[in-house]
Amino acid sequence: MTETLFLDFAQVCSKIEETSGSIEITDLVADFFKRLDDEELSIVPHLIMGKVFPEWSPYELGTGPSLLFDAISLAYGVSKDEIENVLRSTGDIGKTLETLSKRRTQQTLFAEELTIKKVHASFLEIAKKGGKGSQKMKVKLLAELLLQASPLEARYLARLVLEELRIGVGEGIVRDAIAKAFNVDVDLVERGLMLTNDPGVVATTAKTRGEDGLRSIELLPGRPVKMMLAQVASGIEDALSQISDPAVEWKFDGTRVQIHKEKDMVEIYSRKLENVTKSIPEIVSVVKNKLKGDSFILDGEVIAIDEAGKPRPFQDILRRFRRKYRIEEMQSLIPLHLHLFDILYLDGRTLIDLPLRERRKILEGIATSDDAPIAEHHLVREVDVIERIYHEALDAGHEGIMVKNRDSLYTPGKRGKNWLKIKPLMETLDLVVIGGEWGEGRRANLIGSYTLACRDPDTDKLLSIGRVGTGLTDEKLLEFTDLFSDLIVREDGREIEFKPEIIFEIAFEEIQKSPKYESGYALRFPRLIRLREDKSVEDADTLERVEKLYKERFEG
Ligand code: AMP
Repeated sequence: MTETLFLDFAQVCSKIEETSGSIEITDLVADFFKRLDDEELSIVPHLIMGKVFPEWSPYELGTGPSLLFDAISLAYGVSKDEIENVLRSTGDIGKTLETLSKRRTQQTLFAEELTIKKVHASFLEIAKKGGKGSQKMKVKLLAELLLQASPLEARYLARLVLEELRIGVGEGIVRDAIAKAFNVDVDLVERGLMLTNDPGVVATTAKTRGEDGLRSIELLPGRPVKMMLAQVASGIEDALSQISDPAVEWKFDGTRVQIHKEKDMVEIYSRKLENVTKSIPEIVSVVKNKLKGDSFILDGEVIAIDEAGKPRPFQDILRRFRRKYRIEEMQSLIPLHLHLFDILYLDGRTLIDLPLRERRKILEGIATSDDAPIAEHHLVREVDVIERIYHEALDAGHEGIMVKNRDSLYTPGKRGKNWLKIKPLMETLDLVVIGGEWGEGRRANLIGSYTLACRDPDTDKLLSIGRVGTGLTDEKLLEFTDLFSDLIVREDGREIEFKPEIIFEIAFEEIQKSPKYESGYALRFPRLIRLREDKSVEDADTLERVEKLYKERFEG
């Protein structure tokens, strides 16, 4: 079988972009999957969602818009101003590249045809470049790739490089396409996706080993899985009305970790599934020395305690996670503590299909040390008792409580009704910052307001919902202007478009229906609470949540 060309991939993307129905799109994706060999099939399912590497992968391309611009300049011999001009008129980085590529007078002679495997190998090479001079090397490698690309290929290469393919193919469509292409049960595909976090692995398993193969997929220490998420309950009665056999735990004010151990190997992942092992040696040591079991995957929260015994703001923990050098210094400044609350895997056995009641018992068997306590589990249904626990948690400086369904299975990546959080804060939305506007007058060099968007998981699109701006100090405006400058993909007068990457937690007075924004809703009096550095675009709130909040508030 000859290798599939990258041009084929580009043509399918282009066709999908012209197609609107999700069934038709699923068919296109499924047909394409069927044409691929096994190696290609391990790449394309995440590529077609705009992800250069699967989510668990330690690799990142590390190429933002400015690096891409350098590569375009080098490859096509055009100035940055020219690129920006074209970008202004096309409004899209992919079309910009396509246009510039068409304008090239000198087409590369004897260029080999790009294949999917070659493109992927180049991406890997770019991702692996690190350290001194790596930016230059990345630019060069990317420029080489662009030089070999035809205009249509260049369009999708550019969007992939910025991880902004945005052709409307999300996880749901890939799941359905795998089931369709290889004639397997869609629920088994879903389970495989949950366990591996790698649609390529699931697709190849479905193709080569069918449903039995999918059934035999297990978790693997060293390969992070998405975390189970919680929904908000409006109060204790509300939570109790949804869960008949509850366990009440403190909701710790820290940050989530997933701990993997396989013999001597310990890897710890943040909520975004970044590997943070090296930055938190004291936790690694606890995991190695104080927990029983040869190999396991645990879920918990890391907290930092100040002198008064209260949790420090979670930004302090993120400072620890970010730290690459002189870690001991930070360790004594901000010591961390681990609290465990779940177990997903133990000694070769995947446990997520067991009810919480049984997982908890297994966890109690391996975590017997005070150095890694298990979140206290109160098995009560009395409102006043739960209220007391709630106030104890708040008095201790934590966020509130979690009410968990003891019958529930562990569902990676799902925000279900089996974990309900109760906290005093008014509702906030975690929104993606997709654009902004330069200020006026004294603030002309500052980005004065930011356009926010929620997610539509079905189409993978980001839908605007409002702007936040007022209430930011000059200092904050400057800090954010610095932060966002690297993410600018397009400018039009004062209007700016950003590569969607940063999440703002936004409070507001009210949600209203509004034709002004793509989501169909607008926030009244939005206020920035904080930057959610621990969240990525996939964690941002969905249109569905916005609709739900709207209904709750508006329709009682
Ligand atoms: P939120 O980030 O507001 O959606 O709340 C869910 C988060 O609460 C989880 O991702 C954990 O980081 C955190 N958390 C704190 N304590 C617990 C607990 N006992 N069980 C589950 N999650 C907890």
